[in-house]
Amino acid sequence: MKISSKNLLIDPFGRQINYLRLSVTDRCNFRCVYCMSEEMEFLPKPKVLTLEELYLIGKAFNELGVTKIRLTGGEPLVRNDIVSLAKKLSSLPDLFELVMTTNGALLQHMAIPLKEAGVKRLNISIDSLDRRSFRNLTRYGNLEQVENGINAALDAGFEKIKLNSVIMNGKNHTEVIDLVNFAREKEIDISFIEEMPLGNIETHKRKETLMTSAELRDLISFHYKLEPLGEPGKLDGPSRYYVMKDSSSKIGFISPHSNNFCHLCNRVRVTAEGRLLLCLGHENSIDLRAIIRDKSADFDDLKQAIVTGLTNKPLRHEFREDQEPTVLRFMNATGG
Ligand code: SAM
Ligand code: SF4
Repeated sequence: MKISSKNLLIDPFGRQINYLRLSVTDRCNFRCVYCMSEEMEFLPKPKVLTLEELYLIGKAFNELGVTKIRLTGGEPLVRNDIVSLAKKLSSLPDLFELVMTTNGALLQHMAIPLKEAGVKRLNISIDSLDRRSFRNLTRYGNLEQVENGINAALDAGFEKIKLNSVIMNGKNHTEVIDLVNFAREKEIDISFIEEMPLGNIETHKRKETLMTSAELRDLISFHYKLEPLGEPGKLDGPSRYYVMKDSSSKIGFISPHSNNFCHLCNRVRVTAEGRLLLCLGHENSIDLRAIIRDKSADFDDLKQAIVTGLTNKPLRHEFREDQEPTVLRFMNATGG
């Protein structure tokens, strides 16, 4: 059957899916304590989608109505030839924007090629501005490299650069204002993400380190008056933004625990091994790699599998109050 309509990605709850997060690798040059355990087993190479397979998946989603693709991982910049993939994806006829989430460590040399390849916006993760604390949180990260990466990205002239931080009580909660000030100095936005219980980690008990968005907002409000942007209680995405009178930087709060945004969900994820994940907080998935590698299947079969798969998208994620993971896959395997 020929799949030609652009509006087939509507889930059983009437939500239109127009955003794909495409994980290009599960590997990373960091081992952030909330994301991974110290000893990680990564996918063997034959199980990881090739660049051509990643492109085919992007193309299938685009033909079905997806207009925004975020390249993520693991760390997308450790994937060989990521720039050529970006170039091909950004040329898809109906793609409005190709964006990326990165830890920034390799941006110093890759910002310009990425911009030239058509990546429009970057989210850069940074959880500390203190050299030692940064190393402790990322296990292998070098703060200076990331700062250089952020500066290179700013110089390259992306449409937008935003910072993402995960704040953990007892680890980096004293650094929130430094991070806000950093964003203000650079005149860019920053979002604070509540830590999610994805995967078993050994460094801390997530229940004890969870800082809710409300706690963070209170903390920031001691220093800066925050005015909510948009209608109170109404979200137009997972981030709830606030502004400060004396700065162009917006402060966002992504609250998977304390403020459920699932009713607005417009996205799905594809992992580096080609599993179509319908929800961050659920394990159910569809094996797209098996279809791509099946010699008797064609491109329309891939599109049909995506359309059929969407009928299983759950209404919402349910993270447990005690922060014990019900989803054993780590965030790097999920595609953040
Ligand atoms: N390596 C890239 C990076 O760090 O930006 C992209 C992938 S990373 C998995 C994407 C985002 O997920 C990062 O901003 C990271 O802080 C966030 N993240 C990872 N594990 C998380 C967790 N357990 N809870 C909340 N956010 C998490
Ligand atoms: Fe790597 Fe990003 Fe996970 Fe940190 S959050 S370990 S940088 S994938």
